[in-house]
Amino acid sequence: MEAESSEEYIGLLDRALERVPRIVDTTSRFTMPKPSVFIEGKTSIFDNFGAIVDYINRDRDHLMKYLLRELGTAGKIEGSRAIFQGKFSPQNVENLLDSYLEEYVICSECGGPDTHLIKNGRIMVLECDACGAHRSILKRSRQKKVEKAPLVEVGGIYELKIEDVGRKGDGIARMDKYLFYIPYNRKGDVVKVKVKKISGTLVFTELVSEDV
Ligand SMILES: [Zn+2]
Repeated sequence: MEAESSEEYIGLLDRALERVPRIVDTTSRFTMPKPSVFIEGKTSIFDNFGAIVDYINRDRDHLMKYLLRELGTAGKIEGSRAIFQGKFSPQNVENLLDSYLEEYVICSECGGPDTHLIKNGRIMVLECDACGAHRSILKRSRQKKVEKAPLVEVGGIYELKIEDVGRKGDGIARMDKYLFYIPYNRKGDVVKVKVKKISGTLVFTELVSEDV
């Protein structure tokens, strides 16, 4: 009876999960409002452009220039809307916003969105308010075409929840396809760790003290 009911249960769970919208990313990515885009005649109206600009805290002209360049069209900002010549889907705009975030907003060290841009001569630098990391925009966008920045890097600092305790007593946490071994094992606690070594999808870490 037990086996039967657990099979039933798994079946139910499967069906329930199918109905749940898929979570795109398990990392600490923040959730931006979805772009609302609709077509009006021969133009596309990005209705909540202003709200998204406010949300990501970037210059509206900077984002607009980026979108126009990537969409390969002309357009203008009108109040809190952006208007593009031509027909574009919400998905078009959403994908571009994702790339914009990756390039100009998200901190490559901690994955947080609390960053600001500094102009340093001809180079733009993204500085993170949360962890203090900075990187140059130019360098990153040039690298991006060659290879995508890895999700987990040696020296990277991550905040993870201890999900399990391993056979050797290490705490275990998961992020994407990676399994983190953490020298701390109180289940359910969230700890800050620094990556020491990566072996395939196994990540070995040390604890970072809270005052860092
Ligand atoms: Zn950061």
